[in-house]
Amino acid sequence: MDAVIKNFPPHADQGTDAAGKKHSMHKPLTDRPSQQEVEAAVTTLLRWTGDDIAREGLIETPARVAKAFREMFSGYDQSPEDELGRTFEEVQGYDDMVLIKDMSFHSHCEHHMVPIIGKAHVAYLPDGKVVGLSKIARVVDIFARRLQTQEAMTAQIATVIQDVLKPRGVAVLIEAEHMCMAMRGIRKQGSTTLTTTFTGVFKTDFQEQARFMTMLRDKHG
Ligand SMILES: [Zn+2]
Repeated sequence: MDAVIKNFPPHADQGTDAAGKKHSMHKPLTDRPSQQEVEAAVTTLLRWTGDDIAREGLIETPARVAKAFREMFSGYDQSPEDELGRTFEEVQGYDDMVLIKDMSFHSHCEHHMVPIIGKAHVAYLPDGKVVGLSKIARVVDIFARRLQTQEAMTAQIATVIQDVLKPRGVAVLIEAEHMCMAMRGIRKQGSTTLTTTFTGVFKTDFQEQARFMTMLRDKHG
């Protein structure tokens, strides 16, 4: 297993569309085709494989793929800000690290639309308020169910938690395997890519950063 450790600054997530207009990562501009158009596109891809689109096993495939895509890319219809913003709980004196480890996710790389399979670890240092733990897992899922690069997804999770919850700092570490590396091109199986984003205290205080990494490594932490 080889690991690449990268540190990406937050706020590197603003996209620019074809017209040069800036848009937020959270509300992608989409103009959806009809179900019929999608099925026709899938049929074209099936023909591209060289298979016989008329054989029984493939008859329903375009409809199934269209349905599967809506589920796998449902993150475009969901707002991570809304997910985080609905309920805050008072911390009642608790101001130490909240760490949610080992959140499994499935995403798709934006270059090949092939799965990225991994785990996200998210920590924050509360400043008077916390969110329900399931909310953080939901945010990971919403971003995962969009076309992604691992680097962008790491920064997006940290940025939205920082912006909405306004904690003293956020730390996000993602470890993932990219099927496009395993299945095609260089065919490097079993390699894991690590990406991190730190904000606030985690960015400025090396000790907090080290504590996050130690807690991740400790199986009972
Ligand atoms: Zn790829």
